Amino acid sequence: MEISKPKGLPYKFICRVYHEKGEKEMDFVQRKTADRAVDHFLKEAAEKEIPLVWDRYEGSLPQCGFCETGLNCRDCLQGPCISHPFKDQNKVGICGKDKDILGVHSFVRLVVQGAMGYLDQLADFAKGVETREGSPKHKQEAVKIIKDIQSMLRDGDTDVMKKFPKALIDGWKATGIYPDGVANALFKVSQKLDGGIGDVEETLLWAFKGALMGCAAQMLQGRLKAAVLGDTAPTSVEVNLGVLPKDTPVILLYGHFSPLLKQKIADAAKGKKIKVMGVCTDPFIPPYIFVPVTNYGSQEIPLMTGAVDLIVTGDQCVNPSLAELAKIWKTEVVPTEVLNRGDLSSFAKEIVEKAQEAFKDRSEVSRDIPNVKESGVMGFSTKNIDGKKVVEAIQGGKIKGIAILAGCNNVKFTQDQEIVSLARELLKKDVFCISEGCASVSLAKLGLLNPKQRDANCGKGLSSLLSSLGKNIPAVVDLGSCENSGVTDFLLSMASVGKKQFKEFPIVACFPEANRTKAVARAAWTVAMGIPTYFWPYLPVTGSPKTVEALGKFCEEKFGAKLHVITQKMEYKEKVDLLVKALER
Ligand code: SF4
Repeated sequence: MEISKPKGLPYKFICRVYHEKGEKEMDFVQRKTADRAVDHFLKEAAEKEIPLVWDRYEGSLPQCGFCETGLNCRDCLQGPCISHPFKDQNKVGICGKDKDILGVHSFVRLVVQGAMGYLDQLADFAKGVETREGSPKHKQEAVKIIKDIQSMLRDGDTDVMKKFPKALIDGWKATGIYPDGVANALFKVSQKLDGGIGDVEETLLWAFKGALMGCAAQMLQGRLKAAVLGDTAPTSVEVNLGVLPKDTPVILLYGHFSPLLKQKIADAAKGKKIKVMGVCTDPFIPPYIFVPVTNYGSQEIPLMTGAVDLIVTGDQCVNPSLAELAKIWKTEVVPTEVLNRGDLSSFAKEIVEKAQEAFKDRSEVSRDIPNVKESGVMGFSTKNIDGKKVVEAIQGGKIKGIAILAGCNNVKFTQDQEIVSLARELLKKDVFCISEGCASVSLAKLGLLNPKQRDANCGKGLSSLLSSLGKNIPAVVDLGSCENSGVTDFLLSMASVGKKQFKEFPIVACFPEANRTKAVARAAWTVAMGIPTYFWPYLPVTGSPKTVEALGKFCEEKFGAKLHVITQKMEYKEKVDLLVKALER
């Protein structure tokens, strides 16, 4: 096993951080993960000096304070430039960007990158449908949605945005952030980074406009998926490394790439005793299910089982480290986002053949699969969760409100612990929790999507609501992958039955272990919808007092909700207090 590796990696994760004022050094020990299956491999990784994400994080400490506070810029070749976070100093960049412009640009950069992620997924999928790489289940509907997508990209005119309450749309139009085509929204906002004289608030509004474009793309992706592949239904699954088989070739699909390609890979594997599973990818591609083997923070760990014969990766949500690590276990990694990929069916066939060959060639690689897996029900939608009953439960005081749990994992936190601890506490306090994407996988791994464990985890009011919603409803309701818009659709159904705007309901959104730029765009559009949003770790804007203030006070004035930037370290119970307080506003 030849790999370049740092010596003497600690099993425990020792962080060095500094007090805000930089006066005194402080050490703390942080567990790497709350996931037993991952823990099983961490000791081995340390002993064999196999570098994982935690080691690379530790090697990068202390992180750059300018980048952390958003006071850096390399948007042109005169830089890089920095400013100072100190109150009475405002060192400006060479072109004249001061610390507030640097801070708001730091936010814009993240939102644009995130919104483009949603558009990229949609464009790829739509192109495949247009070039007939898949045969839509509901052809007319698919044609209609493709037209809607073209119109959304051209001038922003799309049916999906019209689903929002009229007052909200009017508000977005009045502030100028209603998305009016990719050129007017995303191209323009990206050029804010290049120069111009917009102030913090105006620039921030452009960022929200770009984010809403991402929101429209996510909604259209969900609708196109239903039209092309058919509806998904709540499904009982088992998640975590224990689901990997010992004696069968395994293909793991990583990240986000065309659902059509995923379907074709599963088609090609049919009848060949090959397991196709997923990591950080939409698990439900009818008629197939790609069981989540793990989630973002531990995406390197499945390799350590030795049971992964072939990895197929998109770009989004995939760590580049996989390519080098995979060599240790003789696992080939096949990227999907390459030039001249060829037609999907031939590519999928090639992938399956490679997996069969790899299984034979890797027969001497030992397979160590920990017996850790958890049952859960995933993939609910507005078709299965009656929004009216939820609205009545709020009105009748049965539940305190709704918490949206989103985001994935971030190495700055113990993997899964933040999200699961917050959820457990919220459930006890009768808060109806809905989740999506990798956040759902965290919750599933720790039992919160298992209907059998529901009542032990929930307060009485919430238990009674959940049991009224159906037979097999878990404590937390997963509304699908972050590729689709299950959460937004659910909120729309509530607004429709309750005849209210989102901001008039007790709803709070929370990203307890946020990481990707798509989560920043997602958080921005959630705030634009009028839903108070908490985001951890804090966004790299804190060097700009005006940006922090605008994300709070200004957003509250414009949308009725704040994007909270919290810099102090907090225990999960303090975070829950904040969330519950937001529901009581
Ligand atoms: S855009 Fe301005 S602040 Fe940024 S690197 Fe160039 S000169 Fe410096």
